[in-house]
Amino acid sequence: MRNTSVIIPTLVRIKPGALDRLGVYCSRGQFKRVVLLFNKELDQTLIERVNKALGNEGIEILGHVPVVASSFEQAQEVFQTLPQATQAIIGIGGGKALDVAKYVAFLTRLPYIAVPTALSNDGFCSPQSSLDFKGKRRSFAAAMPYGVVVDTEVCLHAPRILWLAGIGDSVAKITSIYDWKLSFKINGTQVDDFAAILSDATVFQLMAKPDRDLEGIKLLAAALMLNGVAMEISGSSRPASGSEHLISHALDLINPKPRLHGLQVGVATYMISQIQGRGAERIAQLFDVTGFWDAIKADPFIKKDWISAFKTAPSIKTDFYTILSEKDHTEDLVRIMETDPRLKDVFIEAL
Ligand SMILES: [Zn+2]
Repeated sequence: MRNTSVIIPTLVRIKPGALDRLGVYCSRGQFKRVVLLFNKELDQTLIERVNKALGNEGIEILGHVPVVASSFEQAQEVFQTLPQATQAIIGIGGGKALDVAKYVAFLTRLPYIAVPTALSNDGFCSPQSSLDFKGKRRSFAAAMPYGVVVDTEVCLHAPRILWLAGIGDSVAKITSIYDWKLSFKINGTQVDDFAAILSDATVFQLMAKPDRDLEGIKLLAAALMLNGVAMEISGSSRPASGSEHLISHALDLINPKPRLHGLQVGVATYMISQIQGRGAERIAQLFDVTGFWDAIKADPFIKKDWISAFKTAPSIKTDFYTILSEKDHTEDLVRIMETDPRLKDVFIEAL
């Protein structure tokens, strides 16, 4: 059912140097006292730039909170110790800090500003937080950001593998939209047409210029952000996540040290698109030009983990019909894995 109280970001800045204008953006939102949450390993110079940007506008930083893990426990601790006078929460860095920040924002009902420093998945602007709860990764309802501030220059200098992961998470919309429509046909799952079109469009926008330069980073940021908005509009993760995400979730459960979400999702998307009979060549070409395949081949996936994941993926989420629900596709996926020329050296036998 469509979310009747859709919240979309009020402030969106995607440009070089946006980080240094964070104080100006906070002032416009009338935020005078803020708390910063950042990844513990975040480059100190970025934090100094933020301190300066906020200081220049007379904005008081009530707390600097280094986020060690994206855990429910840490989010709860931050929530309990948050200074009373806090007017806004700012999350800076990769997934960890942003997941914790947006969950704390949800609990406190305070405005939240997301400042991703890399674009490895669509989590920086989505209504869900991915947190470890009692040792298991779970999705929690979270606040959509009041502001999204992406400094494209900063993201351009993030490791290349994170950019590739962002591309991988982005193409998943091709297969997830297919699964969503399939679920409608079989089970009557309501499809939100607007959210589906929005999500679908982002992939084509990205494919038009998949370059790792300021303009390409801007397109990727916009694509990932709009996927989050599509989830918020539809009140469901369907526009951004289908059977390809189930395989990635299954891998996370199998492997004690999961690989980057977007890399797993990207490869799973390519394989699922072949079963769905739609989009495989376009995805493959995007991966060719971006060097996605080469990056995976440099550190290949373990074949047996993926075969286990194909088997368990359909049961990961209840009441979530995808192409993997219609029949056991393990054999088809293994065949693709073993015979598709593009997947040569993407998988290796166990070490
Ligand atoms: Zn994803």
